[in-house]
Amino acid sequence: MPRFETLSAILPAASRDDRELTFIDGVDEQRTITFGTLRHRALALLGALQRRGLGRGDTMVLFVGDNERFVEMFWACVLGGIVPVPLAAAGADEHVVKLLRVFAQLERASVYIDRAGLERLDAHAAAHDLSRDAARLREAALLAGSFDASGAAGEATDPDPDDLAFIQYSSGSTGSPKGVMLTHRNLAVNIAAMIDAANLTDRDSSLSWMPLSHDMGLIGFHLKMLACGASHAIMRTDLFARRPLLWLELASRRRVTLLSSPNFGYQHYLRQYALRPPERLDLSSVRLIYNGAEPISADLCRRFARTMAPHGLRPESMFTVYGLAEATLAVSFPRPGSRLATIELERGQLGVGERVRAAAPGARGAEFVKVGSAVPDVEIRITDSSRAPVGELVVGHVEVRGANVTAGYYRDPVETAARRSADGWFDTGDLGLVADGQLVITGRAKDLVIVNGQNHYPHDLERIAESVPGIETNRIAAAGVRGPDAESEELALFVLHRGDLSSFAARALALREAVARQAGVEVAHVVPVARIPKTSSGKLQRYALAAAFEAGEFDVVRSELTSLLQPR
Ligand code: ATP
Ligand code: MG
Repeated sequence: MPRFETLSAILPAASRDDRELTFIDGVDEQRTITFGTLRHRALALLGALQRRGLGRGDTMVLFVGDNERFVEMFWACVLGGIVPVPLAAAGADEHVVKLLRVFAQLERASVYIDRAGLERLDAHAAAHDLSRDAARLREAALLAGSFDASGAAGEATDPDPDDLAFIQYSSGSTGSPKGVMLTHRNLAVNIAAMIDAANLTDRDSSLSWMPLSHDMGLIGFHLKMLACGASHAIMRTDLFARRPLLWLELASRRRVTLLSSPNFGYQHYLRQYALRPPERLDLSSVRLIYNGAEPISADLCRRFARTMAPHGLRPESMFTVYGLAEATLAVSFPRPGSRLATIELERGQLGVGERVRAAAPGARGAEFVKVGSAVPDVEIRITDSSRAPVGELVVGHVEVRGANVTAGYYRDPVETAARRSADGWFDTGDLGLVADGQLVITGRAKDLVIVNGQNHYPHDLERIAESVPGIETNRIAAAGVRGPDAESEELALFVLHRGDLSSFAARALALREAVARQAGVEVAHVVPVARIPKTSSGKLQRYALAAAFEAGEFDVVRSELTSLLQPR
């Protein structure tokens, strides 16, 4: 496997014509280009950018729905020393909000945007009195699809490994998204680590539906596969959302070896599978099926493995990984080919600095999936509230260090300083522990709900709630809200509900009862909501619900519900 010092070295080294990149846009809509063609097109685009005077030190927001346009421009920028800034560009209004916010933050920015994106921008600007911001952005826009790239090819630059390669905005699950600055070295090191830790070769092949605006789609698949010199296919995310079964149908047909999805994607797949189980499906070629980017449910992993076993999927192919944008991507991987490993812990014993206890026999504790050990060139430590390292089986802050770790957040020295220690350790914002040498993530520090001094993890509570009849998975969010005295915290469960409230009242009682019985915590509020806010990568934004709650947005529906619950 070749070793790279910079990101820009990857495409020239990979640009052979017997390796292909396929874009899957519909059931029968596929476009395939060779790696050589990709490089050729990127250089042509770069020529056009350079004729416009763009070069080192400029930034380029990528706001295009089409994956082929995205990768061409991504590579044009990287080869020319222009810093790409990928952003999600699906239909949602939040994406336009984020686009405007990021654009205002960036220096010397252009925006590569398609017609649909411009239309959404204008509609949003008209509705929110933002025409001036929209006009400024339009001046910086390059229209994808009709941007003229004929003419002489551009000239690739030769970057220093410590130059900024691109800016990866984190998803924004716990607040406004932050621009993680990644250097060429960060990327080269972590991509090599992912290849090593999973024993990848140029004979591997992958199919991914994860958006290229997200680190797992872009770095975890496209860039990594290019670095391996391995053919790969990128499926549109909205196509997976509409036709999840198509994902593994195509994987079967293409005989791919690597697949990936966050937890909710497996759920989405299984729901459709139950309705229309496919007949012919052969997944025996799959070596690893990555599961990461959000808390992993052990039950779901087992259910998925059981359901897919008759189709040849080996149970030990489930690859439960952990990472984050601030570490470029990968932090820990299990050993390839090892079985799913979990740990069941007593609830109420999972706060920072606490030594965990195995759940008592017979009692159902909180089950967590082990996510393996550090990938090459990454160090992991767990620390207490004074940032002192703790030993195995003690819960604490997960910190990472290594050449893959970001130098900081773009134009945010305050947040950067809060996360970084003098000796290079970076606080991931996650809590966890080490058990038998393997990392276990218990949850995000910011999402922790503390009621009467006891720590509760929202996704654990959500899973309990989901076991209540009538409550669907992914339709519920748990969050801490300020109690009446503003000092203490109370637990609120937000449940997606449309229509009549009287049908909701009975479910609210059942939810309270289940959470009290299994987790030993009182649910102070069960709140029906019309929408559960999610990030562009599909993660719950619990903080947004808590903030809306505290701002009184749900007061009316809550008082209606309270009166329904009064004994008559
Ligand atoms: P923001 O930082 O803006 O809130 P984000 O943290 O969701 O967004 P990413 O960097 O894309 O942005 O996601 C990384 C986070 O996802 C991790 O910090 C962790 O909280 C969560 N995560 C990733 N893998 C796992 C895993 N295997 N188990 C539990 N959580 C995970
Ligand atoms: Mg984060």
